[in-house]
Amino acid sequence: MAMTNPESEPERESVRVLRPRRAVPTDVVRPTRAEVSLPALRHNLRAVRRHAGAAAVYPVLKADGYGHGAPAVARTLERAGADGFCVALLEEAVELRDAGIRAPLLVLGGRFAGAHDALVEHDVRPVLHDVGEIDALARSVRARGLARRFPVHVKVDTGMARLGASLGDLPALVAALGRAPELELEGLMTHFACADEAGDAATEAQLARFAEAEALLVREGHRPRVRHAANSAAILRGRGLFELVRPGLAIFGLGPRTEDGVALGAGELRPVMRVRTQVVALHELPAGSPVGYGATFRTTRPSRVATVPMGYADGLSRALGGAGGRGQLVVRGRAVPIVGAVSMDLTTVDVTDVPGVALGDEVVVLGSQASPGGGEAVQTAEDVARAAGTIAWEVLTSLSRRVPRFYREP
Ligand SMILES: *Cc1c(COP(=O)(O)O)cnc(C)c1O
Repeated sequence: MAMTNPESEPERESVRVLRPRRAVPTDVVRPTRAEVSLPALRHNLRAVRRHAGAAAVYPVLKADGYGHGAPAVARTLERAGADGFCVALLEEAVELRDAGIRAPLLVLGGRFAGAHDALVEHDVRPVLHDVGEIDALARSVRARGLARRFPVHVKVDTGMARLGASLGDLPALVAALGRAPELELEGLMTHFACADEAGDAATEAQLARFAEAEALLVREGHRPRVRHAANSAAILRGRGLFELVRPGLAIFGLGPRTEDGVALGAGELRPVMRVRTQVVALHELPAGSPVGYGATFRTTRPSRVATVPMGYADGLSRALGGAGGRGQLVVRGRAVPIVGAVSMDLTTVDVTDVPGVALGDEVVVLGSQASPGGGEAVQTAEDVARAAGTIAWEVLTSLSRRVPRFYREP
C-alpha cells in the first residue's frame, strides 16, 4: 500500500493522474522476449553502493525502469535495500506507489500542472525549480492541513541549461520558500552535463556553481540536508557524491563510456536485460538476390538469410539495417550481420557463414549466447547503440511494450 497521510484519505482528487502503459506478458506465443535478471539488479546495486560511500542510493527508474519494467525493478531493489527511487514523472511515481513501493520517491520533472494534491496524496517528493510551483504546492499542503512539513527538493542549473533555477533565479525561489512554511527544503540538486568525459573541467565548474547555490541558500537560513548531483558516470568516477546519488544506467549493468572509449565500471557491473528471439524463416538465395524493403541489400554470393520476428516497432532501430547499416544479431554463438532494411515486425540476417542454422534457433539481440562449439558471443546495449549511432540509454528505453518482459530469479 502507498503511504498516504491519514488527513489526505477522504476526498477524491480533481486531477486524474494517468498511468503509463506497461508491457504485459500476455503475448507468450511470441518468441521475442526480454529476460530481466533480478540477481543482476541486486549485484549492480551493491556495486554502485561500493562507489557511493556513505551516500544514499536512489536508483533512477524513469521510462519504465529504463525499459526493464519499473514496478518489478523497484520491488527487487527496495527489498535489496535501495534508499529511495527517482522518476521523471508524477505518473511514474504513482505507478510505483500502486505497485506497493513504500520507499521515498523523488520526481525529477519539476512541473506538476495542478497535480500538487496528488504529490501529497501519494507522499512523493517533488524537485522544484519554479516559484509558481512552490506557491501552488504550499497552497495544496496548507489546504490539507498536514501535521508535518512536506519535503521538497530544489534543482539548480549549474551548466546544462535544461531544468533548474539559475543562480540568478535563486533569491526569488528562496523568497517563495520563505512564504511557504508548510514546505521543508530537504534537498538541493543539480545534474552534470559531462560526467562521462575524461577531463573534469566542465564537472568542476558545475560543482563550483553548486557550492555557490548552497552558500546562497545557507545565507538565507535554509540548510538542505541532502545534496545530490551524481548520475552513473559521476558515481563511477567518484565525483560529486554528497549525501545522495542517482544511478540509472549502472543499475541496469552498463557503465557509461568515457570519451576515450573506456566503459566505466567494466567488470563490476552485470547487464540486467537479455533480449532474444528466434529464426522463423530461412531463405537459400542465389547471388544477386534483393532482400527486404527497397532492396537495400543484394546478395553477392549464394547466401542463407534468416528472418526473425523483431522489428523497429519492438525497438530494434531501423538504423541498424538498410544501406550502410552495421547492426548484428547473435545466432549459434556467432555474430551475424543484419542485411536489408529492418522492417516494423521483422529483421533479416545473413547466416551463410554459420553452419547449421535451423528454424527455431534462438537469436540474441542483447546479452550473451553460448556457441555450440564452446565459448560465447555477447552483444551489449552499448554495442547496439554504436552500430545504430545512438546511446545505450536509448537502446534500452526503446524496447517497446510489445516485447514481453520475463523476470528471472536467479
Ligand atoms: C536520468 C537521470 C539520472 C540517471 O542518469 P544515468 O546516466 O542513467 O545514471 C540522474 N539524474 C537525473 C536528473 C536524470 O534525469
